[in-house]
Amino acid sequence: MAGNIWVLAAQWRGQLQEVTYEVLALGRRLAADAGVQLEAVLLGHNARDLAPALEPADVILWADHPELAEPTPETYALALAQLVKARQPRALLIPLTNVAMDVGPLLAAHLDVPFVNFCKTVRVADGALEARCGLYGNKVEVTVAASGAPAILGVLPGTHLAERGGGQAPSIEEVPVELPEAPRVRFVRYIEPQAGDVDITQHEVLVAVGRGIQRQDNVALAEVLAEALGGAVCASRPVIDQGWLPLSRQVGRSGMQVKPKLYLALGISGAPEHVEGMKDSGLIVAVNTDPAAPIFGVAHVGATADLLEVVPALIDRVKAAKGGKAA
Ligand SMILES: Cc1cc2nc3c(=O)[nH]c(=O)nc-3n(C[C@H](O)[C@H](O)[C@H](O)COP(=O)(O)OP(=O)(O)OC[C@H]3O[C@@H](n4cnc5c(N)ncnc54)[C@H](O)[C@@H]3O)c2cc1C
Repeated sequence: MAGNIWVLAAQWRGQLQEVTYEVLALGRRLAADAGVQLEAVLLGHNARDLAPALEPADVILWADHPELAEPTPETYALALAQLVKARQPRALLIPLTNVAMDVGPLLAAHLDVPFVNFCKTVRVADGALEARCGLYGNKVEVTVAASGAPAILGVLPGTHLAERGGGQAPSIEEVPVELPEAPRVRFVRYIEPQAGDVDITQHEVLVAVGRGIQRQDNVALAEVLAEALGGAVCASRPVIDQGWLPLSRQVGRSGMQVKPKLYLALGISGAPEHVEGMKDSGLIVAVNTDPAAPIFGVAHVGATADLLEVVPALIDRVKAAKGGKAA
């Protein structure tokens, strides 16, 4: 199998992301099985200091350009296309971070090759690369033969154990890239999460409210229940879009992935985009007036009931059980 195995270094605001080391571990195995070198590709501006930390790789290819200062998918893809054409790797493994998610398809289009996405693992089989991919939110698994070169593969985070350190210090090689002065897509600004807000990924109990909460005033009811249970309030997207809770509380595809011990879903229909963010919770309890609501398909315990009646009763029961005063 000719050509080296490449791994794109995923970074966020000057820090290498953990998933980089997960994908480097996969790349290390592939490179060993194929008898080729593992090369990490580091894109950025004045980012050379990060290169030595990519030591699981044999070689670090470092491209420096002012337009690479922020990880814009289009610019990244343009830079990578030049490097791939010039150096002909066998495969490029791209960690699927929010930014890199868009890099793979753009790069594959530039190179006119297929993009193999959502890879859970990749192996060398009969001298060719074979990927196992999870599709449709991981509901379907497929095996894809990536026979051509270069193979561009998007690798899911959390699928490999991160590995740091290597046998010997890697060599660092600066590689030139030419980029347009006025790219069509530009980085504008970072929006920081609201300071001082709770981190819903860290709570063992989450009281989640959906559109069924009906009014902003009613969110306070969920806050009281969450406090009684020692948890925090989170929400589905419509509640966030209304501005009733900050964005940091959104659960789902475009929000946070949570895995509390208890997820109490109040007035949430259970759309796939929401379920994606909470389906791995230990115990899912759903309250919904609609017996056909899809949330009951993922809930361990469900009640067809009006949340505005259930929540005050629950608050009373929890407080009573804790020996406190009923509301
Ligand atoms: C690209 C994309 C990304 C998205 N990302 C996300 C995401 O990250 N998170 C997310 O949540 N959504 C996301 N969505 C939106 C998602 O598709 C749904 O529209 C959303 O999850 C619905 O929210 P909901 O369940 O609160 O509202 P609805 O679907 O309107 O459901 C409200 C539910 O409340 C019930 N109800 C009404 N009154 C009561 C009551 N008194 N007591 C009990 N139940 C009651 C109703 O029966 C209904 O089931 C995304 C959509 C797209 C296209």
